[in-house]
Amino acid sequence: MGIKADLLVSRLDEERAHHVERTPGSRALFERADHLLGRVPMTWMNKWSGGYPLYLSAAHGNRITDVDGNEYVDFALGDTGAMAGHSPEATVAAVNRRIGAEGGITTMMPTGDAEWVAAELTRRFGVPLWSYSLTATDANRWALRLARMVTGRPKVLAFSYCYHGSVDETFVIAGADGTTQPRGGNVGPSFPVSATTRVAEFNDLDSVEAGLAHGDVAVLIMEPALTNIGIVLPEPGFLEGVRDLCARYGTLLLIDETHTISAGPGGCTAAWGLQPDIFVIGKSIGGGIPSGAYGVTQEVADRITAHEEADLVDVGGVGGTLAGNVLSTAAMRATLGDVLTDKAFDHMITLATRFREGVEATLAEHDVPWTIAQLGARAEYRFVSPAPRNGTESAAAHDDDLEEYLHLYMSNRGVLMTPFHNMALMCPTTTQADVDLHTRLFGQAVSALV
Ligand code: PMP
Repeated sequence: MGIKADLLVSRLDEERAHHVERTPGSRALFERADHLLGRVPMTWMNKWSGGYPLYLSAAHGNRITDVDGNEYVDFALGDTGAMAGHSPEATVAAVNRRIGAEGGITTMMPTGDAEWVAAELTRRFGVPLWSYSLTATDANRWALRLARMVTGRPKVLAFSYCYHGSVDETFVIAGADGTTQPRGGNVGPSFPVSATTRVAEFNDLDSVEAGLAHGDVAVLIMEPALTNIGIVLPEPGFLEGVRDLCARYGTLLLIDETHTISAGPGGCTAAWGLQPDIFVIGKSIGGGIPSGAYGVTQEVADRITAHEEADLVDVGGVGGTLAGNVLSTAAMRATLGDVLTDKAFDHMITLATRFREGVEATLAEHDVPWTIAQLGARAEYRFVSPAPRNGTESAAAHDDDLEEYLHLYMSNRGVLMTPFHNMALMCPTTTQADVDLHTRLFGQAVSALV
């Protein structure tokens, strides 16, 4: 069987019309936004299906209300920024205390929260020494600079179709012959990406070795599972192989767990026993308050501090005025201490498993050749079977119309999936009933196409 293309065209039109009917308030705000580039506060907000974003009225836990009074079960969770749920109580209390009674949002001075959070990050992810940013993008950017400095090498190795934030060196795909090619649509690059970056395919150790063997790669930056081109899980032995190759060729291994923390309280690093030299995380750890961090091993830290000429305390290119501010560290302390706990992860992973099984049952029932990948508390379907093994294969499975149809089918019936993805993330307040609602709607959406 499978999906009927003509049915998709007509169903998508119906869903678009339904979306416009039920969201007049959002549409009016969008049409009135004459002073915003692209009519949105950030241009990617135009990725919401239906032609304009839903405008927010309120968000608590995993529930969102839009300005038209429509309520949603939110599986987007700010693309992981709200993995702790929207406005989690402990985070709100800590932030209110900091802003209100205690006072001080940005003072250029630390509180004891910074050390508490660093110790907790060490407990979870292993590496002993930490520094803060406000975004994962900046944490990655600064970590790449430090890696180039300590190795004295110029290049970065990244995987085809990776995403690590707006980090110049990472907008890369593999050409047919394995050459470094710029990813389509790269906006005003300051230099050709081939000058900074070597590329490899995920799950392909030969391509990793070919990149590292040049001897000029300071750092290999990776997610332990790709999560920004669908979810591509590592095959057995791949991550161990990457670790060994980095050691053999003198390249530092940077593991970015901004999304893959979904695997558990200590991300894939703890769950799978990974050994990064540099670790990066952002988004979720501040419960929605801008927060990010990078951690390094003692060995990397020693190599950093040996560079006495490096201006790490002022204008050397690593750092930001608001990074590590006390509002951010208060939010991280509360979120890590009281919200994204081991118990919360157990609950979230159980629900994501149920979510995946629900989708698999529908795909089997209708004999639809799609797959769903789960990484702990997150799951994502992809319009191809078997599951893609790397970014290039996964990119080839993208289908704009199918994605828009499924997103609108869901949002028109009170369920939000992540824009850019077919991704669903569980948070501590997601319930079994929420997952079952998605399962029912997914079944209806698919049977309308076959
Ligand atoms: N790393 C990864 C793996 C990401 O998925 C993202 C964002 N999707 C980032 C870094 C950058 O996060 P931010 O945009 O919050 O800086």
